[in-house]
Amino acid sequence: MNKRQVGYCGRSFSSIVFAVVILLFGAAPALAQRVEGRDPAEPALGKPQPNLMARPAGGLARASVDENSMRTLIGKLVGCGTRLTLSSWTDAKRGVGCGRDAIVARLKEIANGSGGKLQVVVDKFESTSERTSGKPMPLENVYAILPGSDAKLAKTIFIVSGHFDSRPSNVMDPQADAPGADDDGSGVAVSVECARLLSNAEARGRGTYRATILFAAVSGEEQGLLGSYHLLDWVKQQGYTVGGMLDDDIVGADPAAGAPHRVRLFSGNGEIDDADSPSRELARAVEEIDGRGAIRMVFRVDRYGRGGDHYPFYKAGLPAVRFTEPLEDYNHQHQTPRTENEIEYGDFEKYLNFTFMGDVALDNAEALRQLALAPAPPSNAKLTGAVTPDAKLSWVAGDDPECAGFEILWRETSEPRWQVYDFAASAGGTVLKGVSTDNHFFAVRSVGKNGARSIVVPTEMERRPPPLPSAPKQ
Ligand SMILES: [Zn+2]
Repeated sequence: MNKRQVGYCGRSFSSIVFAVVILLFGAAPALAQRVEGRDPAEPALGKPQPNLMARPAGGLARASVDENSMRTLIGKLVGCGTRLTLSSWTDAKRGVGCGRDAIVARLKEIANGSGGKLQVVVDKFESTSERTSGKPMPLENVYAILPGSDAKLAKTIFIVSGHFDSRPSNVMDPQADAPGADDDGSGVAVSVECARLLSNAEARGRGTYRATILFAAVSGEEQGLLGSYHLLDWVKQQGYTVGGMLDDDIVGADPAAGAPHRVRLFSGNGEIDDADSPSRELARAVEEIDGRGAIRMVFRVDRYGRGGDHYPFYKAGLPAVRFTEPLEDYNHQHQTPRTENEIEYGDFEKYLNFTFMGDVALDNAEALRQLALAPAPPSNAKLTGAVTPDAKLSWVAGDDPECAGFEILWRETSEPRWQVYDFAASAGGTVLKGVSTDNHFFAVRSVGKNGARSIVVPTEMERRPPPLPSAPKQ
């Protein structure tokens, strides 16, 4: 057997032994150079060293999250018995209408404390699906809107949403109890707490959001995402552009030892080759704002084979992601409360972890705060320069006196996260001297004078069709 055949993953056995020796006794400079020097430096003459602006001041403090109010709201929702969308909208004591009333009452309290800026809207509509027996059913969504301060950016809306409908084992049964403490009382409590945190911060002069923020509690999720599809139509009809949509669904429990853990953040690939969908860019932005210690990104549109309210936005090509707790307990979701073989089924408040849920509220609120403080993302980002030594980026941005400039980002094609490569003070374009177009992905984002970053806009590839053989003569 010759030496090559003994090799492991393309490395010869003797070099593995050598590497182990090096690990034990310290790297010999000659080998270190050889490992470092395997690829040519790019660019050849040193990278730019841009000064990165600090993130916006006035970050929300964990201590400002009101876990008690979240617990109170979830208690009221559970107290409605069931919140199945097919249950009563008019009975004040039992049914989905009782849930709506609890949310509206809490949001109005928060609005009163916000100096009148937060506006509460109940949006009534009809919708049909297999899970309404094919008949049009009345539905209602509840929104609290914090209007943006910037004339142009106020038409961009950032959304946080939970669904207030719940379900027992049989999704068509309006009689059975369906407490829905976690699914999705928790997401509603997070959305409502974000409304309190952000409207309070603004009322106390700690940041004026340039874009509009919508805090939603929708119905009809369990009947086929009906409330979320309608919310998407509603924001379009109101003339908004969706800057980002955060769906919080099952964010209340964290039963594994060592809690609190990181919340999972799901984002779909999109339908392009390099997995840089707007949803993926939103997930990266949230992780960058809240930190890797808080967010576990999952590069998948949702949990395996399952769906949620971010989906209609994602499929429309908009930035939309889903927050979900680290490890779900399926005995506590979509189950009519009962005990069978000594196993207790049901989605009860006693399984919730308000420390974890408070963390999730903070993660959402801080992400919304920074995104709503940011300039609009650039548009029309392009990468040219194929078959030349330099990568050339171009992009377009509207006039914005609050915009400090643009960060040029790159990443290895196999890396999940962007890095800042350079900074450009104005829109138009830049040439990355000595950087090949081939080995990285490239992107641009806007940076405000306040340090807030827009979501990243990846550059589109220059389409260079390969010369194909001429069609054979018939
Ligand atoms: Zn749910």
